[in-house]
Amino acid sequence: MSKPRVRFAPSPTGPLHIGGARSALFNYLIAAHQGGELVLRIEDTDLDRSRREYEDEIIKSLRWLGLTWSEGVDVGGDNGPYRQTERLSIYQEYVEKLLESGQAYYCFCTEAELEAQRKSLMEQGETPRYLGKCRYLSEEEKQEKLAQGIKPTIRFKVPENQVYVVHDLVRGKVAFESENIGDFIIVKSDGIPTYNFAVVIDDSLMGITHVVRAEEHLTNTPRQLMIYEALNLKRPEFAHISLILGNDRQKMSKRHGATSLIQYREMGYLPEALFNFLALMGWSPEGEEEILSPEEIIKSFSLERVAKSPAVFDLDKLNWINQQYIKRLNNEELNLRLQPFFNQSVYRQQLESLSGGQMEVLLGDLRDRLVCLGEVDQQLQVFFGDIEYQEKALEVLRQENVMLVLDKFAGELPDFTNPAEIKRFIKTIVKQTKLKPKDVFMPLRCALTGQVHGPDLPDIITVWGKQKTLSRIEHTVAMLKN
Ligand code: GLU
Repeated sequence: MSKPRVRFAPSPTGPLHIGGARSALFNYLIAAHQGGELVLRIEDTDLDRSRREYEDEIIKSLRWLGLTWSEGVDVGGDNGPYRQTERLSIYQEYVEKLLESGQAYYCFCTEAELEAQRKSLMEQGETPRYLGKCRYLSEEEKQEKLAQGIKPTIRFKVPENQVYVVHDLVRGKVAFESENIGDFIIVKSDGIPTYNFAVVIDDSLMGITHVVRAEEHLTNTPRQLMIYEALNLKRPEFAHISLILGNDRQKMSKRHGATSLIQYREMGYLPEALFNFLALMGWSPEGEEEILSPEEIIKSFSLERVAKSPAVFDLDKLNWINQQYIKRLNNEELNLRLQPFFNQSVYRQQLESLSGGQMEVLLGDLRDRLVCLGEVDQQLQVFFGDIEYQEKALEVLRQENVMLVLDKFAGELPDFTNPAEIKRFIKTIVKQTKLKPKDVFMPLRCALTGQVHGPDLPDIITVWGKQKTLSRIEHTVAMLKN
């Protein structure tokens, strides 16, 4: 590949889907790997469903993921405008060429007629398609209909008995027979071109060398090839990347959980984790290592290693990757990333009253335990929530020597500022009571947290401070005595 020019061309009809994000990422990686260029084009010809808010949100999502592009709707460039509704006069020129050369024609068929045709073909077990009624209208008939004020669509005249072959860079050779494709609409009755037409004009004028997009567009490709041919435009290479399936192997949908990138951001997944995870959805690096930085992925990315088989969205894997990235954050970074979640936390007040040292201890603990930042409140429960005694913890607390340990702990607890001091103090209790370490640590954990598992006890105690620690012991002792 010499320097590729690729594009990501979302329709702003909803938030950026995880599949769209993956397509954008693959295009970004192709460009970055070869020192090529990525163009961001907005395909907003569906006037009813396109919204500027979605466009903004898509751009925000792509930026959050860490993608950059050299040309596009928000950054400009020499091949603009980059929003299809601002390119209508450009399309018009090409539509006229096709009309003049007889490769396109006006169609006056009504919705009802088309529906009847669709139905009858289906009943005969045939592919529903337009059978070309208006292809054969005489000039007079056409003028008459126009004079009646009927707003026509414009259809492309599909060449007969042709085979259209695409050598897809992911799927290999795919052939389509023109027999199965009816004359398709290139301009709607409101004068707006359709996707299959506009995309060709844009990819061509924008100098796109590789069209890399979702597999669902493969069936559109023969239509687009016809237009390239009819207008004598150079066609790009194509690569159709597989669908993303849920773990039940059905197409990923809301049923499988969050489908938009922004939702993952809100749940507290790190953008670098998603970048890594999405890159591995369909592409595989040569080595075994799966945690790869953007630079490493850019360096080794190639379409040759993109699989034909569908990619399965594996949430466990995303969680694992996210955890790996959280573990790599230092306290300062982790704190920064947690701010939006801390601000919404039910424990916000408690968090704000921590000393710098206590916060450091807490962050260290959160780093080890968080799968995604959004579950911070669950992890903070043991630190700041009310105590609830698990049955297992109550069993521990009913064992002998528990009162001895609790009394000694509460009676001799020194002033402290860090977990190491607590650990040393508990060790002196072990020594003096001659109990097994477990028989000291476990009752203390259960008395203080009500649970048999949890974060490091000295960490919890440090985050609490002496007063809260002692009142917890008191609370538990009172409960036990009742
Ligand atoms: N606007 C199309 C979509 O969002 C893009 C198709 C293409 O990349 O050609 O699905």
